[in-house]
Amino acid sequence: MTTPTDILDLKTAIGAQVDQVFADVQALYHQLHQHPELPFQEHETSERLAAALEGLGYEVTRGVGGTGVVAMLRNGEGPTVMLRGDMDALPIQEATGLEFASTRRAETESGTVPLMHACGHDLHSSCVVGTAAVMAGLREHWSGTLMLICQPAEEIFGGARAMLDDGLYERFARPDVILGQHNMPALAGTVGHRAGSAMAACTNLAVTIHGAGGHGSMPAQTVDPVVIAAHVVTRLQTIVAREVPPEETVVVTVGKLHAGTQANIIPHTAELEINIRSFDNALHRQVVDSIERIIRAECEAGRSPQPPALRVLNETIALHNDPVAVDHVRHAHAEHFGTANLYAMPRLNGSEDFPVFGNAQAGGFGGEDIPYVYWFIGATPAERWAETPGQSVAEKMRHLEMPHSPYYFPGNEVTLRTGIEALATGALAYLG
Ligand code: ZN
Ligand code: ZN
Repeated sequence: MTTPTDILDLKTAIGAQVDQVFADVQALYHQLHQHPELPFQEHETSERLAAALEGLGYEVTRGVGGTGVVAMLRNGEGPTVMLRGDMDALPIQEATGLEFASTRRAETESGTVPLMHACGHDLHSSCVVGTAAVMAGLREHWSGTLMLICQPAEEIFGGARAMLDDGLYERFARPDVILGQHNMPALAGTVGHRAGSAMAACTNLAVTIHGAGGHGSMPAQTVDPVVIAAHVVTRLQTIVAREVPPEETVVVTVGKLHAGTQANIIPHTAELEINIRSFDNALHRQVVDSIERIIRAECEAGRSPQPPALRVLNETIALHNDPVAVDHVRHAHAEHFGTANLYAMPRLNGSEDFPVFGNAQAGGFGGEDIPYVYWFIGATPAERWAETPGQSVAEKMRHLEMPHSPYYFPGNEVTLRTGIEALATGALAYLG
């Protein structure tokens, strides 16, 4: 049984471990920040992380699902806890003005792009290494298996599935619980939780509508894909209005519509890209099916000479935190950080591929789903937070830069430390 003295002892022990490794983890973090890499291109990043984890005595495997890293610490009988950090960066020109700001560029199919860790994935994977050090140092305080993963390609919702397809659970271990975190513009030093529905499912769909092009003066001898596309865009708006129950939140956005070159030419094809978001996986599937049905029917109505081509660019399921596991982790965080440093996280319209690790169907690993908890660590320094208008976390967030902004920087010392301690106390809640 845990007594208040044990809890105090453990809190002190974790703090002392973090003190010991902090300078090294911070140096690693600055290195990663300065050298961002695109999804599935995280070669240098994963090598740095793998080397650091090996240095801490973990059993490290590289190249899982592309550039993914798995580090295991088997420490006797007990459950397996998986901690996940991601590694990829974004094609953004950094404008933070930091000493260790990125000046990197990458060659892509669409030309040279600037690179920036604008989502703080460098922070997440650095926290995993920091936690690895803390947990190795506290080995006598826990028993079970710690499974750490550094995941590639979160931004394109590809890395989680790639690691699973590469046999993550068969080759290493099937975890009993999965923990992960993301930085947020909340007060640094605080941790936000949300049971149940926390982030949206997302599908990005590319569509080609086929027509039969010709002279603009002779529409009867053509099939005009522009008119078909216009009907599609308008009709798609009826899904949310007429097919989705009013109490549900669903977004259908046609973010790209491209056809033709000039006024007097009827083009051959029209291209669309559609973004779909929702908070319920079954409803999400239904909406995607409706989109497909409408596009096919509009093409038929418009005499399209061949069926439309639909292609999923990328997609991920809704994030649904296991309520029992959230309670368990929140309790551990409350003991460590104090309840005053916890906040209720508002639901986010953003999306993550983290839930794929817990969803047997989406993850393709079969059997039961695995409970997971995904929490949020505050990244705004106290002074900035105090001068930000608003009372609640949600109100203040509206006035602060969000991830993916060229000015966003979550990596202050307090946040880095909180990220390490949140992961370590979360793991110890199951292994301690
Ligand atoms: Zn992101
Ligand atoms: Zn992110």
